[in-house]
Amino acid sequence: MRTIGLIGGMSWESSAEYYRLINQGVRERLGPTASASCLLWSFNFADIEALQHKGDWASLTARMTDAAQRLEAAGADFLVICTNTMHRTAPAVEAATGIPLLHIADPTAERIKAAGLRTVGLLGTAFTMEQDFYKGRLADRHGLNVVIPDAVDRATVHQVIYDELVAGQVLASSRDAYRAIIRRLVEEGAEAIILGCTEIMLLIGPDDSSVPIFDTTALHAQAAIDMALAD
Ligand code: GLU
Repeated sequence: MRTIGLIGGMSWESSAEYYRLINQGVRERLGPTASASCLLWSFNFADIEALQHKGDWASLTARMTDAAQRLEAAGADFLVICTNTMHRTAPAVEAATGIPLLHIADPTAERIKAAGLRTVGLLGTAFTMEQDFYKGRLADRHGLNVVIPDAVDRATVHQVIYDELVAGQVLASSRDAYRAIIRRLVEEGAEAIILGCTEIMLLIGPDDSSVPIFDTTALHAQAAIDMALAD
């Protein structure tokens, strides 16, 4: 089994889901006592989100490449960044180590294409919804059309992530707000919804949408299991 290097703590609420999903998946594949060989670098998210909101991507990139190099030195065979947003630093992380990075957008897009879907609604942080590092990969590498919420709805989605979900708060009122935003994305033509933030799966599931939901946390964790157990 290959050793997975997880760069997490962004937030730990979703890293805990990655850890659970990866270990459950390895148990299903290899037997009841089996578990994943993995290393976790877990940041203090307060530091990370402060730098994100300052727009200090140089410092964030330095922290991410440092974590990646520590995991490589500790024996990781490949890397998993347990957040969509911090994939903005993925090219630098890849360049800073000699081990592969399993990009979160790729297994998600592969599954969407396999389902025969092309136009996707994207929910995530403002960084993920508005900047090109994520939408661009979905469009350029995978040929998907990406629809994002309008400015008011983007602000709601972002605020629920940073004020509630990363703090472990899952509120029915926010689920209702997300459901309404998903309905508007479907009206705009979305044939599927990407949960493009690794905490949204704590709030939203398949029953909250009339079109299929693609949860990046679950799909990324599954891809990590496949890579760890590949021949
Ligand atoms: N976990 C979230 C994501 O997938 C947001 C936290 C972060 O900014 O890293 O984007």
